[in-house]
Amino acid sequence: MHIIKSIRGLQAWRRKHENHKIGFVPTMGALHEGHLSLIRHACKHCSTVVVSIFVNPLQFGPGEDLSRYPRPVKSDQQLCRDAGVDLLFWPSSQEFYPQDFQTLVKVHRLSQRWEGEARPTHFEGVTTVVTKLLCLVRPDRCYLGQKDYQQLLVIKQLVQDLNIDTTIVRCPTIREADGLALSSRNRYLSANQRIQATSLFTALQQGVQAIKQGATNVWAIQSRMQKVLKKYPGIKIEYLAVCDAKSLDQLSQVKGEVVLMGAIQIGNVHLIDNILVKALKKS
Ligand code: AMP
Repeated sequence: MHIIKSIRGLQAWRRKHENHKIGFVPTMGALHEGHLSLIRHACKHCSTVVVSIFVNPLQFGPGEDLSRYPRPVKSDQQLCRDAGVDLLFWPSSQEFYPQDFQTLVKVHRLSQRWEGEARPTHFEGVTTVVTKLLCLVRPDRCYLGQKDYQQLLVIKQLVQDLNIDTTIVRCPTIREADGLALSSRNRYLSANQRIQATSLFTALQQGVQAIKQGATNVWAIQSRMQKVLKKYPGIKIEYLAVCDAKSLDQLSQVKGEVVLMGAIQIGNVHLIDNILVKALKKS
């Protein structure tokens, strides 16, 4: 496995691999099974796999966990090597955002709601870093997790709007045995918080069950989900919504494909999750 830290080095590497079918997995490191599943999808369908590890300062708001975000350098490298990654791109912040850096990429509507409401500059940071990475790596396919569903839609939109020649591939959310979605942030949870954290998935599942039983009134579905989380006074619900799966518009009646999305705060840990579900056809 090659490790490249400089942008020039990456550009030179890419020129030498013009005819390769490149699969790309952008990450912030602290790799877990969720990331590894994306890498495995990439290895299966592409001749050459590039992973980037970059804790992107632009996507952290003031008071968020940028400085304490985990950076297990050696074990991340080993995990990539073991997974069959061909190139690990590992730039520094100074390399990626030199002093004179002035450009931001913003996806308007999709970025402004849900995660974007609680974290107003978050998606601008994500879309700027992803645009830079896609310009550098020029992958045939870019693998992203459903775990960050809004991020996935925002990146799809930017690829479409900027005519970037890559296919975005959505990979399923990988979970712990009790349903908690794997996340680099789960390691911040205390033992007690960890037990409570799984209730986000339980709440979303309750919503799915209601829809599968024929419920269409979103207000009723949401209150069923809220009931699960309200059992835990340590959990603050940031949002819990039933949305159109493409536009992320909040619905009042379940129709077509919908996404149940939730974000909670436990202590100072922010956790998100979602489940996609199709409304029952009217007979
Ligand atoms: P991150 O390192 O958190 O920026 O995530 C990098 C990529 O891994 C993103 O496309 C995430 O959606 C994806 N990812 C993170 N957690 C999971 C998970 N539990 N299952 C599947 N993909 C995930």
